[in-house]
Amino acid sequence: MKEATKPTAADVDRLNELLGGKPAEEIVRWAGETFGPEIKFANSFGAEDVALQHIIAKIAPNIRVFTLDTGRLNDETYQVMDATRFKYPDVPIEVMFPERDKVEGLTREKGFFSFRESVELRKECCAIRKVQPLKRALADANAWMTGLRRDQSVTRTDTPTIEWDEGNAMVKVNPLIEWSNEDVWAYIKANKIPYNKLHDQHYPSIGCAPCTRAIKDGEDIRAGRWWWENPEFKECGLHE
Ligand code: SF4
Repeated sequence: MKEATKPTAADVDRLNELLGGKPAEEIVRWAGETFGPEIKFANSFGAEDVALQHIIAKIAPNIRVFTLDTGRLNDETYQVMDATRFKYPDVPIEVMFPERDKVEGLTREKGFFSFRESVELRKECCAIRKVQPLKRALADANAWMTGLRRDQSVTRTDTPTIEWDEGNAMVKVNPLIEWSNEDVWAYIKANKIPYNKLHDQHYPSIGCAPCTRAIKDGEDIRAGRWWWENPEFKECGLHE
């Protein structure tokens, strides 16, 4: 179904009735037909996102893709970015950097590890390095797409397929919201998709290098992100 106009908050319930529980391919096809290049996929190159990139390349390569280079990523993340560029040459990846003045001010005033001192200071770093570049990336979009899954964390258990993103005033499309971790890995293996090699070293969820660690058997899959904080605070501001 093609939308006549840009969906708004009032359309979200109707769209979830239409698309909720549908296969990811069907949701991506709908998004490509509905928005074309007006929808942008935020690819962080985690397992979910490389799977979703593959679906986009196969079904809707007109969807634009961007990534946020915070300046604090692991080498392995840059390696999978390059492998992805090489595998899908028809889907360019726009790389968004933080504003130079803001990063220079942050590090000059607060050093390189202020995010360890409090949730507020951690959110300040995420705002400069992630949230503000995200807003710039979305400035020329009508909707955005993510690889969020419902069972990734306690902060995502109620996330629907289509959300209204109040902060960015546009719909957010989550085609993998119903997928399990096993679904993601079965898809990656079956399609030989390049993935971040840190996943092979007990890193199920990967963000910036100083804010991500490996987890132990039995720990929650987001336990390695901002491990010094309580679980209910563990969002970077991109999905609040
Ligand atoms: S994850 Fe850590 S280093 Fe990355 S932007 Fe957030 S606080 Fe800063």
